[in-house]
Amino acid sequence: MRCTTCRSRSCATGTRSSRIRYVGVCDDDISLYKGDNRSWPLPKSIVGHEFSGEIEDLGELAYHAGFRIGDAVSGYAWNFCGACRYCKSGLEDHCRNAACISVLAEHVVLNMRQIQKLRPGVPLEHGIFTDAIGYCLYNGLKDRGIAVDAHVMIFGCNTFSLILLQLIKLFSGATVSIAEKDERKLELARTLGADHAFSSEVTTVLRNTAGITKDHGYDHIFEMSRDPKMLGLTGTIAAVRGDIRYSYLYGYTTSNDVNLMELYMKEVTLSPFFLVPYSLPRAVSVIPRLALQPLITDIYPLSEVSRAYHAQESGASIRNIIRL
Ligand SMILES: [Zn+2]
Ligand SMILES: [Zn+2]
Repeated sequence: MRCTTCRSRSCATGTRSSRIRYVGVCDDDISLYKGDNRSWPLPKSIVGHEFSGEIEDLGELAYHAGFRIGDAVSGYAWNFCGACRYCKSGLEDHCRNAACISVLAEHVVLNMRQIQKLRPGVPLEHGIFTDAIGYCLYNGLKDRGIAVDAHVMIFGCNTFSLILLQLIKLFSGATVSIAEKDERKLELARTLGADHAFSSEVTTVLRNTAGITKDHGYDHIFEMSRDPKMLGLTGTIAAVRGDIRYSYLYGYTTSNDVNLMELYMKEVTLSPFFLVPYSLPRAVSVIPRLALQPLITDIYPLSEVSRAYHAQESGASIRNIIRL
């Protein structure tokens, strides 16, 4: 990767220009960067979508909406058209005209719908988690109805799963298990509230499922590891009437071992995490209630952007951030 200089745009009435200060390196960025078959299949996708910064200029409508120069903000890099059938029915994430604006730049012009002011006292670098928090709130908790005595299983220890873990512990009394290969990440999950954290090796998962759930299986399973083998295991460990959500792209050509008969016999629901419609006020309001500092592995200056990408690609990190 290399840095270049390009011409800046002025602000139209409902837009504002931000001085970007922090950009997160998401695992989807790595797929896009490498051009592998899990890359985001939507057109106009581009690396750099988790951000925080300050407003440096704004249009008239943005001013009347309450934004001011110098406000600390974060938001979504996805810009939905606001006019299509999906946008008009609260399903902006399916917008036919969606475009992702790269925020991996010092100055970016965004639509005011895409940003939200951060609460006072929130460290600016924590703002980059707004995208992941909104995603987990919408896909993880909405319509889940997680009961007080429910057993929840999360596969994978990464930014999304460790945010989801905290949200579930914050908003329900459920018992949460997390399975992962890396023992250091499991230790982090324990400090962030996981009731059980163990190896994702198949026999360990099966043994712990039997012991923890007394052979009933998990009521809610979130496959967030990117490993299709783990998705195959979810049907086996699901409870009767349980639900399974998968949050990653396995690629169009990757096969997986989901056993539909297992799902059928237990009436288990399998559904995807997808993008999230605009839900910024709620996502931003949750930031002060989450432990986000432990999720930041390292912060790199813009001149070391390639190092930040390589560190994220290594799989040993939770979240690497670029400071601009
Ligand atoms: Zn992302
Ligand atoms: Zn639209």
